[in-house]
Amino acid sequence: AAPGRQSYNIALIPGDGIGIEVIHAGQVVLQHLARCLDTFDLKFEEFEWSSAYYKKHGRYLPDDALDQVRKFNAILFGAVGAPDVPDHISLWGLRLALCQPLQQYANVRPTRILRGTTSPLSNCARGDLDWVIVRENSEGEYAGHGGTSHINQEWSVATEVSIFTQHGCERIMRFAFSTAQSRPRKKLTVVTKSNAQRNGMVFWDHVAAKVAKEFPDVEWDKMLVDAMTTRMVLKPSSIDTIVATNLHADILSDLAAALAGSIGIAPTSNLDPTRKNPSMFEPIHGSAFDITGLGVANPVATFWTSAEMLRWLGQAEAAELLMLAVENVTEGGIKTQDLGGKSKTVEVTEAVCKEIEKLA
Ligand code: ATP
Ligand code: MG
Repeated sequence: AAPGRQSYNIALIPGDGIGIEVIHAGQVVLQHLARCLDTFDLKFEEFEWSSAYYKKHGRYLPDDALDQVRKFNAILFGAVGAPDVPDHISLWGLRLALCQPLQQYANVRPTRILRGTTSPLSNCARGDLDWVIVRENSEGEYAGHGGTSHINQEWSVATEVSIFTQHGCERIMRFAFSTAQSRPRKKLTVVTKSNAQRNGMVFWDHVAAKVAKEFPDVEWDKMLVDAMTTRMVLKPSSIDTIVATNLHADILSDLAAALAGSIGIAPTSNLDPTRKNPSMFEPIHGSAFDITGLGVANPVATFWTSAEMLRWLGQAEAAELLMLAVENVTEGGIKTQDLGGKSKTVEVTEAVCKEIEKLA
């Protein structure tokens, strides 16, 4: 590499189903981008951790998995989930087993309508929907705290306890307010359910109000999660940055992805904002076994995810160029079936590579 040129080591975890197809498409595009721009280097190493690995070894990750991935600058993750493994086993076995110890407490989901794609909302122009959803990614309803007793009895009980800590709430609120501050509109909506959940959610609101004082230039409001779903559909342009709990943001971001056109285009970043650990980047869609092996998976979510990864690594110009290429391709009508097109995964991938060559 030329002197001063940055080189990044990327861990690839394709996982299951279409995860494998889209991560390989992402790798092709990233390699091509690095070659055409010639301003940075990428080195990839692939890990076979998946449901197939689980069926062979009885677990999703080897003992030293965290030590192995800590050496990388970033992780590009596909999807995990197989028809014959219960979802809670695969999710906790792989995705959460990485996110939580790597302190990736901020999950960030940008949402907008790409050129050449359409929102199912008839009242929504392209510029009306431009959101960033910040999801608390380490505690809340997905803390894993709870238990069962008297199972298989008439009087069986199960608890799923939500955990809200001062530390956890403060750090995500600070991250969300500073995300809102970095965007032109400087607007944040804090999503809550403090009318019904009088402990955790009232505490969440209290921390939001406290952290808000550190960001006097950010205009913020508070909204119950149920009302937020209708606002997203009826008044999309009134929203800019959103912060919500692990559960609420999980649901709202699927809604957001659908409103922006397809789950096949939406990216996610699992960030450790302290940068002590590598962050992990993934398309929000799952392993989609119904279309696995058909070659029709939309790779755009993984391309957008790759752009978010480059941005986080400090390669903002490369990220912009990649998104420009992707949107030129979708606008040109080279789209997979989920976006109403007829193109295959490889055709979209090749078209994006050609477009990168033109733009670089
Ligand atoms: P998981 O259990 O891992 O979440 P899933 O089978 O529920 O996976 P999702 O990925 O959540 O599937 O998506 C739901 C449906 O949306 C899929 O069945 C698939 O038809 C469609 N879909 C998802 N991702 C894509 C994509 N990248 N391209 C095209 N269609 C997709
Ligand atoms: Mg699913």
